[in-house]
Amino acid sequence: MNSKIWLSSPHMGGNELKYIHEAFDENWVAPLGPNVNGFEDDLEQFLGQNIYVAALSSGTAALHLALMMLNVKRGDEVFCQTMTFAASANPIAYVGARPVFIDSEPETWNMCPLALREALVKNAALGKLPKAVIVVHLYGMPAKMDEILAVCAEFEVPLLEDAAEALGSTYRGVPCGTFGEMSVLSFNGNKIITTSGGGALVSSQKKYKKKAIFLSTQARDAAPHYEHSHIGYNYRLSNISAGIGRGQMEVLAERVNARRKNHDFYVKLFEKVDGVTVFTEPDENFFSNHWLSAITVDPDKAGFTREDLRAKFLEQNIESRPLWKPMHMQPVFKNAGYYGNQVAEHLFRDGLCLPSGSNLQPAELDRIAELVTRELIAG
Ligand SMILES: *Cc1c(COP(=O)(O)O)cnc(C)c1O
Repeated sequence: MNSKIWLSSPHMGGNELKYIHEAFDENWVAPLGPNVNGFEDDLEQFLGQNIYVAALSSGTAALHLALMMLNVKRGDEVFCQTMTFAASANPIAYVGARPVFIDSEPETWNMCPLALREALVKNAALGKLPKAVIVVHLYGMPAKMDEILAVCAEFEVPLLEDAAEALGSTYRGVPCGTFGEMSVLSFNGNKIITTSGGGALVSSQKKYKKKAIFLSTQARDAAPHYEHSHIGYNYRLSNISAGIGRGQMEVLAERVNARRKNHDFYVKLFEKVDGVTVFTEPDENFFSNHWLSAITVDPDKAGFTREDLRAKFLEQNIESRPLWKPMHMQPVFKNAGYYGNQVAEHLFRDGLCLPSGSNLQPAELDRIAELVTRELIAG
């Protein structure tokens, strides 16, 4: 059997262990220390001027804190892109609020500004606006931020940006992760850079960083003893994990380049395959890190389905995966509201994520190219 080709696996840069050794040498084996501060500095440098970052235990934790800091409470509604990973929506339930899911548009696969506006118009007429809107940059592709920000501003609803998949992506030259009232990043094992597990809350307002650190370290009031006037959480990133993050930040630009090259490889590979479209930026305002390369298969034109192709990859021990199943189709959210025109449903039916790691070897790409050529072009 050929060795397995993974969809996306961790890819160390080399200096991660150096930072971990420093942490051991100085006994900073705790959810605080120089690596935590250093990793935050690195991210703030990368994301631009006047950006404040709080390093947390996961992207999910960051979203949970962001919703709490926006004062989202039991019975409130939050609008969320339906086409996403469940971690975008679960924190809405953690705070007792109700998610309402918004469809995607076909160009970026992200929240459709028209569907968002329609939903806001209807809710405004009922006198019940959502407490927040959560937009996602799927697979690294920036959402249509101008349009979405304009709609949110029109109805004065704060935007939360789930940039978990989009570190290194830009929209009109501005980094993803800096558009929201607050934004979140993830450093889970399969993301473009990883800390094994971790996340961050990002904002241009320092007060959110301060409060996120307060809440994520058990909400201790200023006192020599343990004094609490708020419910706290244990959501801070460990100094060991942050050491991995510092090493990873040194190679982030290389990782983005490598993933974008994978995308170019697939564009070229599928050029001659009718009915297969590689997910690509709509125009030069969008710069995707191409965290995952993905395609859609039109079975009428292609003569095969997404599932046919996935099975062929699997036979060769090559991992591929259907796109995120939309949240409004998930059993757990079956009672939630939904606005849209089934764009996300069609993407889920026809879409496939392909091996996209920054550590894919030339021989592995050759295996993928051979399979596609043999099965879809030559045949
Ligand atoms: C990975 C991911 C998250 C969650 O991040 P964790 O660090 O795994 O908690 C949230 N949203 C999206 C879109 C993601 O891909």
